[in-house]
Amino acid sequence: MTLPLVLTRSENIVWAVAPEQPYRPASILEQIGNTPLLDLSFLVDRPGVELYAKAEWFNPGGSVKDRAALRMIEDAEQTGRLTPGQTIIDATSGNTGIGYALIGAAKGYAVHLVMPANVTVERKALARAYGAQIIESDPLEGSDGAIRLAREIVAAQPGGYFYPDQYNNDSNWRAHYDTTGPEILCQTNSRVTHFVAGLGTTGTFMGVGRRLKETSPAIQLVALQPADELQVIEGLKHLESSLVPGIFDPSLVDRSLPIEAGDAWEMTRRLAREAGLLVGFSAGAAVHGALQVANRLDSGVVVTLLPDGGAKYLSLGLFE
Ligand code: PMP
Repeated sequence: MTLPLVLTRSENIVWAVAPEQPYRPASILEQIGNTPLLDLSFLVDRPGVELYAKAEWFNPGGSVKDRAALRMIEDAEQTGRLTPGQTIIDATSGNTGIGYALIGAAKGYAVHLVMPANVTVERKALARAYGAQIIESDPLEGSDGAIRLAREIVAAQPGGYFYPDQYNNDSNWRAHYDTTGPEILCQTNSRVTHFVAGLGTTGTFMGVGRRLKETSPAIQLVALQPADELQVIEGLKHLESSLVPGIFDPSLVDRSLPIEAGDAWEMTRRLAREAGLLVGFSAGAAVHGALQVANRLDSGVVVTLLPDGGAKYLSLGLFE
């Protein structure tokens, strides 16, 4: 934990002096989680309604998926499913892979990532920069094709790999049950009334949703999905036309909102220009969906989550 410096004032000069406890240098992995909650209430048309968003690009790997990647790796270490010398392999559209790559580098594991060949160049370059090896799957088969290829590679050499299988791994949603959910409760003083999030592996929605429902069953959970299988919002899945993640429990969803990719892109551009928030397109989708919820309430505290930053989407040219 970072200790605050104590400020003292003398002759109009403010001095920063050492706190009573000595500063302890932290590891990069300890910086995962505890992200800021930003106030976006100025976007809401209704005066009695507040809108907040978790700034997940503050994680060291730049996305919400650092949380799940760390938890899956550390749970596997503790249960002996991951041992020194093994290679971590998984299918990922990018962000979980960047998380594995960063954590693998920090802990000394090799990392192999199976990604559809059309994933943005920045995502692949980032994972490679941390030393991960990229295996490209058929772009026409999307994230499901990457999952199938990862399974084939692991089946061919079972002992050599640790395959977290983020779509079917309970540690994925538990990361959010134990960190993101409690952070939202703490940062809103438990005033949150609605949680709105997109579905990818569904780990974020399941983990935060379960924690909030346990705290108060009245909290409404709103799930966002691309409106149909042709709408591409990186990181999100159209569940009706995809392999449904094993960790997904549809009974937790109070309401499902379809999002058009064009609306997500427009909101993403607006957030950069009007709020100084350079975020990814699933974050634009999240704010667009959260505003649809917020603008129909008389009072409430709506919380959403901005899964990653916008820098790794610049090559798509959609910000111009
Ligand atoms: N947005 C982005 C940019 C992502 O990479 C992901 C992960 N696929 C998500 C949203 C969805 O998060 P989750 O996997 O926890 O459902």
